[in-house]
Amino acid sequence: MKNTGNLVVLGSINADHILNLDAFPTPGETVTGHHYQVAFGGKGANQAVAAGRSGAKIAFIACTGDDDIGERIRKQLACDNIDVAPVRAVKDESTGVALIFVNAEGENVIGIHAGANAALLPAQVADEQARIASADALLMQLESPLESVMAAAKIAHQNKTTVVLNPAPARALPDELLALVDIITPNETEAEKLTGIRVTNDDDAAKAAQALHAKGIDSVIITLGSRGVWASQQGKGQRVAGFRVKAVDTIAAGDTFNGALMTALLEDKPLPEALRFAHAAAAIAVTRKGAQPSVPWREEIDEFLR
Ligand code: ADP
Repeated sequence: MKNTGNLVVLGSINADHILNLDAFPTPGETVTGHHYQVAFGGKGANQAVAAGRSGAKIAFIACTGDDDIGERIRKQLACDNIDVAPVRAVKDESTGVALIFVNAEGENVIGIHAGANAALLPAQVADEQARIASADALLMQLESPLESVMAAAKIAHQNKTTVVLNPAPARALPDELLALVDIITPNETEAEKLTGIRVTNDDDAAKAAQALHAKGIDSVIITLGSRGVWASQQGKGQRVAGFRVKAVDTIAAGDTFNGALMTALLEDKPLPEALRFAHAAAAIAVTRKGAQPSVPWREEIDEFLR
């Protein structure tokens, strides 16, 4: 790393509209809910918030619509210690939304509209070339157009900015992109999508990690939920357990892990210590409800680790 300590996150912003109701409506039916909440989400924003709150120097490349909710989200992100100068309000577009129904059993059905997230195009990435080139690390996910993820990875790679990819949501990826990635952080489902290897135990995780190393990726960190991670560097791997907590909601566990991991790596913590820090942040997040509301601040993580 270049020791500027600067992180750039490129990714999505969503407003999650969550309606709790007794039972899902059937086609043509109208059901009255009993609790409604708008929460800010999107994997990019969640990871940016996790990095910002845990103490990273971070700038966020993203898009909102030119609507009221976009403005509110931008203000909130700025309060979360994030440089929002590269967040663009796209004219005549709506901010990305997730419409979420949750029934009495806690199951959900979700409809998503990418909205302004689909307008994060390579031209915007090119505008941010200097920012990406001078950063220590670039963290991305897959809720933005793949051509833009590719363009940003190319700029970063050419300028020795560490390329970190959280390959979520799960999908297959071109080798051309994987060859530019320095650190990849799939969960079990995403690792299977990328390698064809079903990850159910440590041996499987080791095989999946090897398959990803073979694509040219130096560090592979497969997150295993309550079992922690499989961490593999240049072909040598081991499982690193997380913390035992009473989980109430694992939404944004992976996002919190990714953001906090970047904070620790940019503080030059060695990998085992960085993983411990990220595990602590994610463990706190699973003890709380929601996406961004559950993401801890630095003091909370330090306190947890004391
Ligand atoms: P994702 O949310 O992307 O599927 P995982 O479920 O693999 O990610 O979890 C990511 C990280 O969150 C784990 O490596 C761990 O640090 C933490 N975590 C997830 N679930 C739990 C849990 N039940 N208890 C403690 N930590 C957890």
